[in-house]
Amino acid sequence: MAEARDFDVVILGAGSGGYACALRAAQLGLSVALVEKGNLGGTCLHVGCIPTKALLHAAEVADATRESEQFGVKATFDGIDMAGVNAYKDGVVERLFKGLVGLIKGRGITVVEGTGKLVAKNTVEVNGELYVGSHVVLASGSYSKSLPGLEIDGVRVLTSEHALRLDRVPDSAIVLGGGVIGCEFASVWKSFGADVTIIEALPRLVAAEDEQSSKALERAFRKRGITFKTATPFKSVELTDSGVRVTVESGATYEAEVLLVAVGRGPSTTDLGYDELGVAMDRGFVLADERCRTNIDGVYAVGDIVPGLQLAHRGFQQGIFVAEDIAGLDPEPIDEAGIPRITYSDPEIASVGLSEAQAREKYGDANVVALTYDLAGNGKSQILKTAGFVKLVREKDGPVVGVHLVGARVGELIGEAQLIYNWDAFPEDVAPLVHGHPTQNEALGEAHMALAGKPLHAHS
Ligand SMILES: Cc1cc2nc3c(=O)[nH]c(=O)nc-3n(C[C@H](O)[C@H](O)[C@H](O)COP(=O)(O)OP(=O)(O)OC[C@H]3O[C@@H](n4cnc5c(N)ncnc54)[C@H](O)[C@@H]3O)c2cc1C
Repeated sequence: MAEARDFDVVILGAGSGGYACALRAAQLGLSVALVEKGNLGGTCLHVGCIPTKALLHAAEVADATRESEQFGVKATFDGIDMAGVNAYKDGVVERLFKGLVGLIKGRGITVVEGTGKLVAKNTVEVNGELYVGSHVVLASGSYSKSLPGLEIDGVRVLTSEHALRLDRVPDSAIVLGGGVIGCEFASVWKSFGADVTIIEALPRLVAAEDEQSSKALERAFRKRGITFKTATPFKSVELTDSGVRVTVESGATYEAEVLLVAVGRGPSTTDLGYDELGVAMDRGFVLADERCRTNIDGVYAVGDIVPGLQLAHRGFQQGIFVAEDIAGLDPEPIDEAGIPRITYSDPEIASVGLSEAQAREKYGDANVVALTYDLAGNGKSQILKTAGFVKLVREKDGPVVGVHLVGARVGELIGEAQLIYNWDAFPEDVAPLVHGHPTQNEALGEAHMALAGKPLHAHS
């Protein structure tokens, strides 16, 4: 075995969590080894956030073309050229990937290509070489889960990775799982012309969101002709001559050309040495405290392997946090509820803070006030012909503790909403702030004005 190489920080996995940690640590003058078996950028850049959002944008263009006449524009929708869509999507990924590689190189980070394993609490082994870190950061990410007895063949039974590589639009698709990833693919495929059925065991789509947001999405999907069956547990799937037949617990069957399995993502933590070295884990997830520290001294964990929201920007922030913690900057722990959540379907859903139900549980029914501002009163939303709302949840006589948005493009509004939540702003603080007109952002201002008792374009 070759001689060990020493670093201030050794990072296992170069996805959102790992590479953000590497960039920040290097910026703070620490020496960094970043171990990656695949591509720098991980799930988010190559098979997650970025390619899916490119597909969703192509879907938006398709819908805009199809529906152009309602804006007085004559256009003909001739169909989807999947090779063209994929070239566009891959081009976006490729450009960002090149940029990231350059950024990492420019910061003097040592990139180690290969599969890493934790062989001592301060050592990662890659291809027989040892990389010793005063600190080790576990950031090995996640994989698409399946269900017992549900075999993925990559042809008719797909994960999101396969779905991203499809060279055609399926005539019909069953999406197993009505969470964020399932709803995003359902939205894309419907816009591309497929018949889509979502099967979800829980009582509602995007069940982690405020109930009102789920209801609004369900209404919109119904209107778009996306079929969904909630409270419908999956039982089995069989391959047919032309595709798949899914049987659910009730005995009902559904047929389609492909089945997308979108039942969540499991932590990539097996055979990486974590267990053997006594890293505290729960069902494969690595347990970390609010400072992202595991039970092993000097070993941190960030991103999807840590229980909580599996989101790229959570990984980024945790990575930055850990680098700063190691550098002795004593950063403030991240408030998990303050992390914005967005589903990029049509319509979009965005939220930050507590749902109304969570707020009622935390503060008591009498101490929660909720207000919904309908986008029907918002000029820009009417111009875009989108429906939806801004819902605010506040602690009575206290700050805004939850913001929930539904409608086209509302994901872009979550920036202001997260400042309001994370800065403990009262509706009375936001109401006097001036929002540009006509913007969708204005709807946030209007909602806060209404909650502060001085509604403008809203019925009181
Ligand atoms: C279809 C889809 C859409 C998504 N859309 C969004 C979105 O719009 N917004 C959002 O915020 N999040 C989205 N996500 C989630 C987001 O991609 C993840 O939360 C994020 O990538 C997690 O970052 P991570 O660093 O924890 O793990 P990953 O990005 O999974 O990175 C882990 C890295 O570790 C490497 N690795 C693992 N084991 C080893 C080993 N033994 N040796 C060396 N390297 C190893 C892997 O190759 C990988 O590159 C989406 C995910 C999917 C699947």
